[in-house]
Amino acid sequence: MNKKMSRLVFVSVLFMQGCRVKTEEAHAPALSYDINSIYDKQNVIPFVVIGSGPAGLGAALYGARDNVKTVVLEGDNPGGLLMLTTDVANWPGQRSILGPEIIKSLREQVQHVGAEFLADTVISVDLTQWPFAIKTANNRIIHALTVIITTGASPRKLGVPGEQELWGRGVTTCAVCDAHFYKGEDVVVIGGGDSAIEEAMQLANHVKTVTILVRKDRFRAASSMQARIKNNPAIKVLYNVEVTKILGENTVKTVPGDDYDNNQGEWEIHEQHVTGVEIYNNKTKETSVLPTAGVFLAIGHVPNSELFKGSLALDNNGYIKTIDRTQQTSIEGVYTAGEVEDHRYRQAGVSFGDGTKAALDALAFLREIGFDQSVAKRLEKQGTLWEVEQAYEMPSISTEQELQDELEGTKLLILDFWADDCPACLQMLPVISRYAKKNKAPDIKFFKVDAKGELDTVSELVTKYDIRKIPCLLVFIDGKLVARHTGAMNENELAEYLKPFVD
Ligand code: NDP
Repeated sequence: MNKKMSRLVFVSVLFMQGCRVKTEEAHAPALSYDINSIYDKQNVIPFVVIGSGPAGLGAALYGARDNVKTVVLEGDNPGGLLMLTTDVANWPGQRSILGPEIIKSLREQVQHVGAEFLADTVISVDLTQWPFAIKTANNRIIHALTVIITTGASPRKLGVPGEQELWGRGVTTCAVCDAHFYKGEDVVVIGGGDSAIEEAMQLANHVKTVTILVRKDRFRAASSMQARIKNNPAIKVLYNVEVTKILGENTVKTVPGDDYDNNQGEWEIHEQHVTGVEIYNNKTKETSVLPTAGVFLAIGHVPNSELFKGSLALDNNGYIKTIDRTQQTSIEGVYTAGEVEDHRYRQAGVSFGDGTKAALDALAFLREIGFDQSVAKRLEKQGTLWEVEQAYEMPSISTEQELQDELEGTKLLILDFWADDCPACLQMLPVISRYAKKNKAPDIKFFKVDAKGELDTVSELVTKYDIRKIPCLLVFIDGKLVARHTGAMNENELAEYLKPFVD
């Protein structure tokens, strides 16, 4: 039996046995994994990892260590949920370590063994053809010989009035990113699991009070986690309460700079900000309003599997199904690990381990279809292997004086407020850096400011320009502030946003 035939038989045997890959949602396509078909494709990557949390980094470590060209598509939240976690006391070999520290050290290790990172997000996949076609937000089409999906899970939303309108204006899911901006204020955390406790502890270091709103009469969190908040005077708990509405008010703030339209010497920010939550006590049946400046959601997660609906077998809750004790999905050559497939264990250590398993499955698959160093060399020689561009390091600014000096005689200056523990900032920074590299000109300058830097001068910049949420981009033309944007953008969105200023 030739290779092509054996692949087809393998796939159909899985279905004939009635194994759990077969579902209503997806039917495995009859793919031919013919190694000779890859030479007429552009942008080929043998080993693609989608996602850069512990599962993705575990997979990339093993792919790159095996000397197979490995590219990690970082996604919208580089580092994944661990970037939002503070103290982790159960990571192997560490008594206590911060979530972002785990990601940093794993990432360094993975880069050291040769994996490449691409700051881009997958927007669609075609798994009905092989090599698999992957399209990204920045208009790249990649042909992958094997794919490991580690897209993780996203924080669940409440779905109450006010949540959408006030998102990023007091409603958030990331205490690690945003606690810093609520100094001396009263905030609430919604949820009763380990994450709610994590968020509350993180916030308590910055804010005046944190009230945890638990919908039942008890926490779901582990008792060891509950013990952590017991004696913290800044943390209160209200049980049996459900948030039914998030309330906000319009505020107008003025910061220095000229308005883009009328050049009046001040920049007005008209924004709604959270002022309170409406709560329903399901025991007393009473509704009341609790004033608060911030609402931090910690009510669980939903798997990021939307992209794969219809092409891979998912369970009823949207988690990607795997076959037996492997990490294979319903399509051979496509593997998965982490919280997009694991609703049971949901621990960073497990995700890393499953990422490792997924990589070993993927490497075995590559060997089986005949991928080896001679194939890799031929792709390299004919120039159809994907090349990741060299990163460009944007210079930093940390004082108003430095900023004023750079503004002198500069037509357009873009300033990016970021921090290394903010996932959206880590997504945005390489996007701006690439844009800056492409748009280098003597009268256009790009700088970044570490918004959580230790220096007082940085705090002055943060206060002066009223930075409440990062990433935040300020645009100066001829020395005057003309626009600001809060939140991450992809390359297309950034180019579109800056177009009126560059033209
Ligand atoms: P969980 O699913 O464990 O908890 C979600 C919480 O949100 C529950 O208390 C749930 O209430 C509540 N909830 C859900 N929907 C609503 C709603 N609409 N309104 C109000 N409350 C709601 O999620 P977590 O993110 O807390 O934890 C996920 C996993 O990550 C767990 O395995 C946890 O152990 C782990 N983790 C570990 C940490 C650590 O070890 N340091 C830190 C953080 C997470 P109810 O109980 O009533 O269903």
